[in-house]
Amino acid sequence: MAEAGSFADRVKQQADIVRVVGEYVRLKKSGQNFTGLCPFHGEKTPSFAVHPVKQIFHCFGCGKGGDVFSFVMDMEKCQFPEAVRIVAEKCGIALPKPKERTPEERKENQQRAVLIEMHREAQTFFVKQLETTGEGRAARAYLDDRGLDKDAIARFGIGYAPSGGDALLRHLKQKYPDKLLTESGLMSRDQNGARLFDRFRRRITFPIANESGKIVAFGCRALGDDQPKYLNSPETPIYSKSNVLYHLDRAKDALRRQDFAILVEGYMDAIAVARAGISNVVASCGTSLAEPQIKLLGRFTKRVIVNYDPDSAGQAATERSVSLLLEHDFEVKVLALPAIGDKKADPDLFIREKGAEAYTKALKESPPYVDYLIGRARQMDLTTGEGKLRALNYLMPYVQKIPNGLLRSEWATRISQQLRIDEPVLRAALNKAATERRSEVKTKPELVGKAGKPAERRLIRMLAEAEDFRRELAQRLKQSGVYQGLETEKVFAALIVAGLADEPMQPTEIGALLEERDRRVFFEILFEEANEGTWEEAESCMEALRSRQVEQELAEVQREIESSPSAEAMRGLLTRKQELLKRRATG
Ligand SMILES: [Zn+2]
Repeated sequence: MAEAGSFADRVKQQADIVRVVGEYVRLKKSGQNFTGLCPFHGEKTPSFAVHPVKQIFHCFGCGKGGDVFSFVMDMEKCQFPEAVRIVAEKCGIALPKPKERTPEERKENQQRAVLIEMHREAQTFFVKQLETTGEGRAARAYLDDRGLDKDAIARFGIGYAPSGGDALLRHLKQKYPDKLLTESGLMSRDQNGARLFDRFRRRITFPIANESGKIVAFGCRALGDDQPKYLNSPETPIYSKSNVLYHLDRAKDALRRQDFAILVEGYMDAIAVARAGISNVVASCGTSLAEPQIKLLGRFTKRVIVNYDPDSAGQAATERSVSLLLEHDFEVKVLALPAIGDKKADPDLFIREKGAEAYTKALKESPPYVDYLIGRARQMDLTTGEGKLRALNYLMPYVQKIPNGLLRSEWATRISQQLRIDEPVLRAALNKAATERRSEVKTKPELVGKAGKPAERRLIRMLAEAEDFRRELAQRLKQSGVYQGLETEKVFAALIVAGLADEPMQPTEIGALLEERDRRVFFEILFEEANEGTWEEAESCMEALRSRQVEQELAEVQREIESSPSAEAMRGLLTRKQELLKRRATG
């Protein structure tokens, strides 16, 4: 949150949310607000609104809402400090000079810089080994065999780690202390931890770069039958596996231009695809995609063709990745390459055997994930009811993640045809699955659209905005407790605290204190067209709430009276009823 007086706060004061949002969404003036098509969910009629005075946005369709920073964070998939910087830049606000860091931060930064430098040197070393040594020659023959010629070796920085076990160590030792060598992940220690030696031995090396192109790790493939076949750098201060996508640094432009990504499993696949002239390829470098990787990719495109290995590990990884991508609103296709002879084809093998053109064609024809999954379900035994149920249960988790009702309905027809399941039965199951999807329930506007009676909504609005009497109103509400038990009770409670503190009301800060559902109600109330409130109106609204409370309690007492209680209880209830009737009359 933007703390008062901070740079972020200053940016927020100066930035115009309409202008910033307007760079992403075509906005039209509508009454006091601006409206447009929501960038966070697909829609044909605008339900996305920006409030120029309150400096907030809210979507009446999907419920997303917040201030200029949360908008930019969602659009750019970035963190708060980055959003502040982007907004400041868009609005021409000069950034402050970077603060003097703490000694620890400075030390960490220095250490990271040294580790990156060390990786650069290791890269040069590996490349030289491949080019100039006898062992390197054998490695080149292997690469040649895999179709990786001189050009490819140079383009992707492929190198060789010799078998000796301390060649790189000896090379780096003169310059770097043992501690840093260990932390780099380039070295291992022997069992009793006494001696350092090269982690990568007798392996082809592939440099792994971060988003900005700096080498932060290596992926290495065994030259012979050594196990494991693939060995990568461990997690280090400069490398976290789940935060890096192989080849992203070179794919960025193509990803933006073509607005889709091809996702493959390993660096050999990524290199093969890139060499086929298809630059918008990235590799997860692991059996499955991790959430930070998805967010990273989402900054460049929201459309993905998953092309993992066809073996069972690859299929499981495909399913996990599809599931995660769907959760992050990606449009997903799956390419399962046909076998070549009796060999299951990964992208590398397929391109080598069939050529770039055939691969491009396969990409173009790759089916939406729905068809891929149905295809997988069809491979199960569908001759028995039990088998069909298993197939259906396999598909259901994906269905639950489809945010769009129309799409879900399309699925239903397709699944029933393909699996030969009675359509009404299937639809019932689908609907059940869909309602169990919490966020889906949340996105139905009618569920929250009119939470609270008019009197409640007016009071909330005044409590948020009536500069002259917010505080007094908060006090009166707190004393009388008339908001207790209301649907909007939590919104009241948060506003009363803010009102009593007599600080300027910040919608997003109040919103941050509320649960999502309550925040939506609150923002919707703020967006209602309304006149300025008066103290008289506030009093009459409180009165309306008070009499509603009395009516409700009366009804309850009456129910208990009619439920034939004990004589003693009855006496108490009747007394209470008299009191309430009197209160109703005097109110
Ligand atoms: Zn929306």
